[in-house]
Amino acid sequence: MEKIYDLVILGGGPAGMTAGIYAKRAGLDVVIVEKTLPGGAICNTADVSNFTGFGTISGMELATKMFEHTQALNIPFVFDEVKKVKIEGDIKVVECFSETIKAYAVILAFGASVRKLGIDRERDYVGKGISYCATCDGALYKGETVALVGGGNTALEDAIYLSNVAKKVYLIHRRDEFRGEKILQDEVKNKDNIELILNSAVKNIVGDKKIEKIEVENLITRETTSLAVGGLFVCIGRGPDTEILDFDLEKDAQGYIVTDQYMQTSVKGIFAVGDIRNTPLRQIITACSDGAIASTKANEYVRLTKK
Ligand code: NAP
Repeated sequence: MEKIYDLVILGGGPAGMTAGIYAKRAGLDVVIVEKTLPGGAICNTADVSNFTGFGTISGMELATKMFEHTQALNIPFVFDEVKKVKIEGDIKVVECFSETIKAYAVILAFGASVRKLGIDRERDYVGKGISYCATCDGALYKGETVALVGGGNTALEDAIYLSNVAKKVYLIHRRDEFRGEKILQDEVKNKDNIELILNSAVKNIVGDKKIEKIEVENLITRETTSLAVGGLFVCIGRGPDTEILDFDLEKDAQGYIVTDQYMQTSVKGIFAVGDIRNTPLRQIITACSDGAIASTKANEYVRLTKK
């Protein structure tokens, strides 16, 4: 007979792994699908300093601890990329590249993908100076001058990280106030080799085989400055990635999935947790909380649907 899981969780980040732990402990037959590493985006976070009980821990170490927790409970992982999610009556069908998984309920936990600057030839320079992950690629720019765009926690943390590797870091932000936490702002301002370029936007990339210069426009004076840099780090947030869903569900103006307080979407049996939903706070701790709530509600849903 064809296998039908109680619950399939799409995404093995903190939200997905926590959902898995709660589901397994509730006795659900659960599987987690993850396309890269368990931990997802936190694997690229150098230090996490606001996850209760851990002081400061590297993102990779926290991800590993979470994964070990799932493995102690024998929660199965499928390492594959999801192509489509469909609904066939009470059954949800998840088409991956190597297999198709069926379940009564789905928790969407695949976060959001990196936002691009949207300037000419940005794609051409990926791997030739443009990076969307300082902790992944920063080491390649040892002793060089680099630029980083963004004003959120990721940008501030990554600027600090890069300042310890590169000779100089230009931190370019489109406003004169940072969105990131005050403690990180203070740390950035105390770094001698980080130069703030505020009210500014990167307009153009210049370089033959790789980035040599960027042209930066001051958005108030409209003056353009040319900066010689070997790398450009883009840390301007993430956006929801919902194209794989073969059905409509309610989303907000930015495209994030709308849920109720139980993480239920507008479609029965489909839950959304973590960065992909319209949450007021995108943190590891809130993602974990979402996962716990969603699994508890999914458990109720599955028990009623299977009857
Ligand atoms: P974010 O908070 O959404 O910040 C994105 C930044 O990029 C904002 O400063 C924004 O400017 C700027 N931006 C957006 N689109 C832009 C564009 N097209 N051109 C230029 N600049 C643009 O994203 P994030 O920093 O990646 O953080 C995502 C979430 O993860 C946040 O909730 C954050 O607190 C959380 N996070 C937490 C930690 C931690 O707690 N340790 C670490 C990393 C991330 P404006 O400010 O002008 O909108």
